[in-house]
Amino acid sequence: PDEDGDECLPQYRHLLSPDLLAGQVAFITGGGSGIGFRIAEIFMRHGCRTVIASRNLQRVSEASKKLVAATGQQCLPLSMDVRQPQTIAAAVDEALKEFQRIDILINGAAGNFLCPASALSFNAFKTVIDIDTMGTFNTSKVLFEKYFRDHGGVIVNITATLSYRGQALQVHAGAAKAAIDAMTRHLAVEWGPNNIRVNSLAPGPITGTEGFRRLGGKFAEKSDLFSVIPLQRAGNKTEIAHSTLYLASPLSSYVTGTTLVVDGGSWLTSPNSFSALLGIASSSAK
Ligand code: NAP
Repeated sequence: PDEDGDECLPQYRHLLSPDLLAGQVAFITGGGSGIGFRIAEIFMRHGCRTVIASRNLQRVSEASKKLVAATGQQCLPLSMDVRQPQTIAAAVDEALKEFQRIDILINGAAGNFLCPASALSFNAFKTVIDIDTMGTFNTSKVLFEKYFRDHGGVIVNITATLSYRGQALQVHAGAAKAAIDAMTRHLAVEWGPNNIRVNSLAPGPITGTEGFRRLGGKFAEKSDLFSVIPLQRAGNKTEIAHSTLYLASPLSSYVTGTTLVVDGGSWLTSPNSFSALLGIASSSAK
């Protein structure tokens, strides 16, 4: 069972060694909410200290208090905008001052909404590219220059399966995430010699997240859209966090330049009907 809101799990049973990430530090963009919050929690439950960074300092500060209380590990909340490299550089400097190291970068910050291409403004398309694609590049490059080039590291980019079949109403996010998957391969090739592994993780529909709510999760559930998923259900945040833990830890020490799809087989079988999705978009907006 998972918690729906941005709360820590009331109970947790380790499937892997609790010291899997002992002594390490993870820098998690978008770590104050949704999937990023649960990734921070699961990493901390495995001995990792974390930095959670996003625009809203109050959000990350509150999240940090909950994470520390539930796990007993350190968590540094920082404000930055992934579109502004100078704010990223300042946050990374502060993180290094606090912890003297960063081993893992999770690029989780993103923005999304359902919108047909014909109704999407030029600026809306650009904003999603700026946050998702540019934000992932900006943060990776700052981390590379300030720490990973000399010490090695692991990068996990949270992407999506939207572009695999040209998901309706998602040209902006699909294009942005596809570019990140390309970036994953380019950076894996260029930075492999620096002992940096770079992978993507592409979640399917994940309950208890802003993404799920905005993309019509409840309505999709009601209209039985999830029964066509091979595993017959949406996924949860803990399942995504566990797969991210695999990619961030030495369990995947020879894995780089790839995308791990964690979607219960959803993209293979879920309907991609333009008109049906328009219906979901208009009901979930009400
Ligand atoms: P979420 O809670 O809305 O997480 C997005 C986070 O990004 C927020 O914490 C937000 O915090 C941060 N953010 C947004 N713009 C930012 C900026 N310019 N600079 C810094 N931080 C920024 O959404 P989620 O649904 O858990 O999604 C997490 C990741 O999983 C995303 O990459 C998403 O695309 C991916 N994903 C989710 C699903 C799903 O079903 N939920 C499916 C596929 C992929 P602030 O507002 O404080 O900046």
